[in-house]
Amino acid sequence: MEHSKLSEHKFKKGKFTTPWNEILKDIGVDNSWCHNRLPEYLWIGLIFDHYGREEGLQKIYQILQCMKNVDYGRILTRFSHILKLSEKEQKILFRDILSIIPKKVLSPLTLIFTYSNYPVFATSFVEGSVEERKEVIITVLDKTMDHQSNCSTDIRFIIMYYLFIIGKLHMPKEQIDLLIKYPHLKHDDMEMRMIRPFIRSMEIGILSVEKVNNEYLNAFWERISEMTECELYYLEFSSDDIKTDIYMEQVHEVYLYLSNLLVKTSPLDNKMLVLLGIATYSYKRAKEVVEHTLFNSISGRSAVRVLVENYIMMKYLLKNEESHEDIWTQYQYYGIGLYKLIVARSRESEERNTNSHVNYQYLEALVNEYKMEEFIDMETSYFDKQGIREKAITVGEKDLYGLYYDYDSSYEHGLWGAIRESSLIKCKNPAHQYHCVPDIEDNQKLMNVWPDCKMMLNRTIQLLDEVYGIPKQLITEEIAIEK
Ligand SMILES: [Zn+2]
Repeated sequence: MEHSKLSEHKFKKGKFTTPWNEILKDIGVDNSWCHNRLPEYLWIGLIFDHYGREEGLQKIYQILQCMKNVDYGRILTRFSHILKLSEKEQKILFRDILSIIPKKVLSPLTLIFTYSNYPVFATSFVEGSVEERKEVIITVLDKTMDHQSNCSTDIRFIIMYYLFIIGKLHMPKEQIDLLIKYPHLKHDDMEMRMIRPFIRSMEIGILSVEKVNNEYLNAFWERISEMTECELYYLEFSSDDIKTDIYMEQVHEVYLYLSNLLVKTSPLDNKMLVLLGIATYSYKRAKEVVEHTLFNSISGRSAVRVLVENYIMMKYLLKNEESHEDIWTQYQYYGIGLYKLIVARSRESEERNTNSHVNYQYLEALVNEYKMEEFIDMETSYFDKQGIREKAITVGEKDLYGLYYDYDSSYEHGLWGAIRESSLIKCKNPAHQYHCVPDIEDNQKLMNVWPDCKMMLNRTIQLLDEVYGIPKQLITEEIAIEK
């Protein structure tokens, strides 16, 4: 399936809605197939699995005839219907089925529908070891859980076909013709590309008239997930081959040069203090990634985010320097104002945790460092009243925002995408309906953040080079690489 473009999504109140969701609303087609319908029709899947499509279709036709004969079309192909037939009817039907197929084809179902609750069925079909039966069930579930797979579509065809032969399917002749044509075409036939979706939509069409048997479904899934263990599926990325030593030394040399420049030649240059301050914060975050091997971690993402944000801020300040009286001081007092707010709150708060990581006294000293705090404004909106997105656009770095910052923000805010990616592991056992398991053993590793950290450090240094002209020999080949 071709993916829909972002421009095809409808933007409603800050939310992108995919074109499919617009049409399908809350039907949740695949979910209802896998959870609500497949358990009813797994028996058909077992026959297809055993015989293949062509022979399977022949066997199933014969069985459908037997079903029709036993109760004249009162029941449908749902297995819960079959199990609800009277004992006498079940005995006749199962005897007839066993004259068409051997026990072992449906025997896997006896693991779920056991003697204690379904004595007639279990006695008629039980055969083979538990392991053998379990394996077949898992294989067939795996093939049929996707509601669009060829095997699922074959099963869904049978459902419709039975309605047709018992005279309960009412639709235009052209559509009936397509239905009748379906079993005679192979799946790789071009015409099937049109007929398969038609079969599936027809089967969805009958949902509104069919009643879901929750008792049956719950018993099915409970039994089947009890039988098998979780098979956790996670991605592992090694950080063994990441080489950072030489590069970090080169970066250190650059920072040492710039730091000396500030301290020795222009100690009171506020612009330089701000730019180097921001750049040093980025450097320290990147250094933490290296020293604490955060390459494949959640915290690593937080580091990339701040490196991007700092770089955008540096570019923004440089770009808007001319239009402000003193953007460097304004920028400093914007940040100090936010600290003042915290200090003020802490004074008003009765309960203060002495073990807190916030050092209120030190904060207070910082707030009063150059100016009495009474003269410092507190601005709770963004610096210069522009969010980081607008700032990124202003400085021509929209992609850094759209491709990196936004993703890393999901991690910073603990949004579900980040939670799903980092903290939940998929179980690939189809019998468990592909559920998720909390990753409490920390098995799930994430993609390495180092190439992006390095790119952002390099771009930060290159920006400083434009402003201060760093000696050529310090801009090594590795630092000169942009991406
Ligand atoms: Zn599981």
